[in-house]
Amino acid sequence: MRYLILSDIHANLDALEAVLAAASTWDRVLVLGDLVGYGAEPNAVIDRVRALAPVAVIRGNHDKAACGLDDGANFNQVARFAAAWTNQQLTADNREYLRQLPHGPTEIDDRLQICHGAPFDEDHYIFDAADAQHALESASRQVCVFGHTHLPVIFTATAATLAADVPDEALKTLPIEKGTRYLINPGSVGQPRDGDARAAYAFYDASGKMEFARVEYNVAAAQRRIAQAGLPQSLANRLAIGR
Ligand code: ZN
Repeated sequence: MRYLILSDIHANLDALEAVLAAASTWDRVLVLGDLVGYGAEPNAVIDRVRALAPVAVIRGNHDKAACGLDDGANFNQVARFAAAWTNQQLTADNREYLRQLPHGPTEIDDRLQICHGAPFDEDHYIFDAADAQHALESASRQVCVFGHTHLPVIFTATAATLAADVPDEALKTLPIEKGTRYLINPGSVGQPRDGDARAAYAFYDASGKMEFARVEYNVAAAQRRIAQAGLPQSLANRLAIGR
């Protein structure tokens, strides 16, 4: 069983379509939240995700803000503006779809669980070793895949050690080893923040490995949509630099 893992799409249809074209084959789809927010195509992205019939979709903080479950008080000005704009754009059906998304964590099989922020709090950001330690202690599966920070990372824990690696050309495939626990962020499809503008995604192969991938997409097209929508220019600019 090969799962395609998509996180933090953020209404970026151009990035999502490029990922789906590049990924080409999978058995099942997992979506780790933040389908919308920041980008200019919330309805088209939700429609595309729904058409994929994922086995699990969990909500992110931007999904909650866009559908009115959260007032966005913790958001910066640009994010709050984008959430309000998204709320206006959503069809009634897609707004209801977001409202009914479950919070994580969700267990996928006997080895894998997914969450948006952290297994102990859907809105918590896992950045450093202390966050990772806390998350690993609260994880219910050997492999916990998360999103929210938009930063690809692999935390690897044994009884005695905790290490952090970044998936790259040299680390594209990660075997899941017995006696080791993993906390993994595949990176963001629609708004990468690791300085690499390419869309990020991953596969989980239930036979025992993770695979990490990046794909170029038409950033200029996504930027034009943002400008035409009247969304803040900074949201277009950051896509080009992946920050
Ligand atoms: Zn996000």
